[in-house]
Formats: sequence, structure tokens, C-alpha cells
Amino acid sequence: MNHIDKQPRAQLTVRKTFKYNDAYSQLDEWEEIGTVRQLNIRTISKDEESAKAHALVSVQSKASAEDIKSALRDMFRRACRCEHDCCGHFQSYASRVRRAGKSSLYFVTIYSNRNI
Ligand SMILES: [Zn+2]
Repeated sequence: MNHIDKQPRAQLTVRKTFKYNDAYSQLDEWEEIGTVRQLNIRTISKDEESAKAHALVSVQSKASAEDIKSALRDMFRRACRCEHDCCGHFQSYASRVRRAGKSSLYFVTIYSNRNI
């Protein structure tokens, strides 16, 4: 534990089981693979029905790049708990995760749209 590091870091966890849908995914089994810190997030486009944003995150993990990308996709996935479609709530997912070279930085493209 590095107490000099003042920026808050969050646990980075990868989802190991897929028994539940996205709204209840916390009931699945997760494995902690490291820590993550969101450095920046920027809205690229936004209208009534959808939004797109770019996030830059710093990852500390010894896991494979595939596990890290999977964990980052889970981190940015949001789903509502409504039983039916057309509720109008926003849901989002990481449409693209890209590592910046061999560094600890990852670019995440987040796409949100209304459930219609
Ligand atoms: Zn909903």
C-alpha cells in the first residue's frame, strides 16, 4: 500500500461468471486483478437519445491485457433494472478499449443510449 499516492484508486475487477444479466452483475463472481484510476473523461457528442465519451484511465495490474480490457468494459457498463424495454433509461457500455502502447494507460470509448 502506497500512502504517498493521494489520488484515489479503485479496485479493478474482472467478471468470472455470467449467471446474471448486466443490471445484477454484482451477484456474479468477480476477481480483483489490480487497481484503476480515472484520469480524464470527455464528452464527444450528446443528443436526446445518445452520448459518446472518451475516458483515459491508468491501470496497475499484472493481469493479461485481455483481462484488463474485459475488466474496463465491466467498469463502464451500466444497465437499468427495468423488466421491459422502452423505459427510456440510459444504458452505457465501453464500445472500445485501447491500450496506449505498452504503458499503463488505456483509452475507453463509452457509448450511452436510451432504452427505446
Ligand atoms: Zn429502465
